[in-house]
Amino acid sequence: MTPSSADPAEPGPLAPGLYIVATPIGNLGDLSPRAAAVLAGAAVIAAEDTRVTAKLLAHIGARVPMTPYHDHNADAVRPGLVARAASEAVALVSDAGTPLISDPGYKLVRDARAAGVTVVTIPGPCAAIAALTLAGLPPDRFLFLGFLPAKAGARDAAIAEVAGVRATLVLYESGPRAAATLAALAARLGDRPAAVAREISKRFEETAGGTLTALAARYAEAPPRGEVVLVVGPPAGAAMSAADLDDALRAALARQKLSAAVAEVSAALGLPRSAVYARALALRDGGAGA
Ligand code: SAM
Repeated sequence: MTPSSADPAEPGPLAPGLYIVATPIGNLGDLSPRAAAVLAGAAVIAAEDTRVTAKLLAHIGARVPMTPYHDHNADAVRPGLVARAASEAVALVSDAGTPLISDPGYKLVRDARAAGVTVVTIPGPCAAIAALTLAGLPPDRFLFLGFLPAKAGARDAAIAEVAGVRATLVLYESGPRAAATLAALAARLGDRPAAVAREISKRFEETAGGTLTALAARYAEAPPRGEVVLVVGPPAGAAMSAADLDDALRAALARQKLSAAVAEVSAALGLPRSAVYARALALRDGGAGA
């Protein structure tokens, strides 16, 4: 339960706090009833672009004061928003999708929490998660990279940094840059399976699958129109068995203490330290059959 009446089944004034409200990434029908209730009930909406949010408010028939909150004014207006959220309901929205996810809001949440202000999230659309559900690539472990740097050198370094990660990669990109980014990914990751999800939840929604090089060639000829998310499958052989982990752990434990062995194996295999630690304990305490 939230400390507010943000449940549309329980109408009433919203409790003070900062409300992080996810909004549609295309289809206005994806605005949840709870998100609409919070937007309509907020004392003020901090919006990345008030003109974009005005259309959403018109859609739900709400008239609520808005104030801009974007990369260029955030430092100046953040303290005032935090102070207001201590005594009023302040909603934060971005132009589309979930605030904070490649969008403004992280420092606002950080400062609100530090000031003891209640932070409530109203979950909803997020292009990265939507693309992951469309791609047909392993979703069990994924790494969200947001936008890669625009300059080729920094972009390639960022790609090289994640080349060994045993996870599906999810990236935001603009249509005109998609082909070059797909080619750069292929050059540094190998020709992995991938998908490009375009215009999710909109009229011309389309998800194209193929190898990185095939997709790079396709979009070099005709850049994808609209918004895209790139999804890249994990490196070949990434589907590691439990026996593989046990073998690596046994070898590492034979050479060093448990904590060092856990650190080595989790780094080498790209697995969460907590999971490797739990398995190492089981092996040490339970023997080979653990
Ligand atoms: N915060 C947003 C979210 O939760 O998805 C993302 C904001 S980021 C500034 C915008 C990027 O998200 C676009 O460049 C594109 O990569 C992706 N995106 C947003 N809407 C999309 C859609 N309908 N279809 C495909 N990609 C989308």
